Amino acid sequence: MSDEELDQETAFSLLADDTRVRIIRELGRATASPETGIPTLPYAELKSRVDIRDSGRFNYHLKKLVGNYVAKEDDGYRLRWPGMVLYRTIVAGLLTDNVESTIERFAVGTDCHRCGDSIEAHLYETLFRVRCPSCDANYTDIYFPSHGLRDRSEDELLRAVHRRSRTMLDATTSGQCPWCASEVTADIHAGDGSLPSLHDTRDFDAYVVYHCTDCTGFQYMPISQVLLYHPVTISFYYDHGTDLTAVPEWTLEWAVTGRTTTVLDTDPWRFSVRIPLEDEELVVELDEELEVVDSAITARDR
Ligand SMILES: [Zn+2]
Ligand SMILES: [Zn+2]
Repeated sequence: MSDEELDQETAFSLLADDTRVRIIRELGRATASPETGIPTLPYAELKSRVDIRDSGRFNYHLKKLVGNYVAKEDDGYRLRWPGMVLYRTIVAGLLTDNVESTIERFAVGTDCHRCGDSIEAHLYETLFRVRCPSCDANYTDIYFPSHGLRDRSEDELLRAVHRRSRTMLDATTSGQCPWCASEVTADIHAGDGSLPSLHDTRDFDAYVVYHCTDCTGFQYMPISQVLLYHPVTISFYYDHGTDLTAVPEWTLEWAVTGRTTTVLDTDPWRFSVRIPLEDEELVVELDEELEVVDSAITARDR
């Protein structure tokens, strides 16, 4: 066993008591608000917030946390960075599949690009999906912390899911795993009628799979979707008075289907993607790394 594995196991074992989790939570709450946030909690204040009478028991558990999760300063205790990450994880509900924060299936207001029926949002465990219930085309499939589901209307929720999806896929397509910050690699596959997901019936001439070899994080997407995160497309939209970053991917046919993508070559891969917008069309050429190698704006034939 390496030292690193031992440390990780010790870090987990240090949390194996609800009193310790309560200490972390109270220290987190004390520092959470920018207005009322205080850098440290004095011993007596912390003990009272955790609401434990037995000093011996409280001291025992606090001592276990001091070091990795909690720092002891002259004037009290504060969370160290791993403690803060843990606090945020608890608040977000990342470690629990919170059944109270579930949502009813609802229509998102866009028709399926594959069959024309109304597409819907629903939760699958902690994955937020936007997909077609009639033909199983899957447009968005993103991990969304259960805490974020609370107190949001359907429209607010869709906006939040869209923003989260963008943030994660922007990181992924720029080569960084949004989960563990390691490098991700992009593998282009020829579509043969099956996708690396049981839940998606869309078919493509080619698609890309990004995967992280360190933490198993992976994401597949249509080739054209890469351009949702590229400045060439963002500025094309901006010039037409639209903020592309605010447009949900499931509404953009060019991004979620292969209809405007042409495979120019397979060895090495080369693609041309047409992005129509009002009276113009942006045509982008991508190489085997999915880098933009050429782009042009032309008048659109209608
Ligand atoms: Zn459909
Ligand atoms: Zn990773």
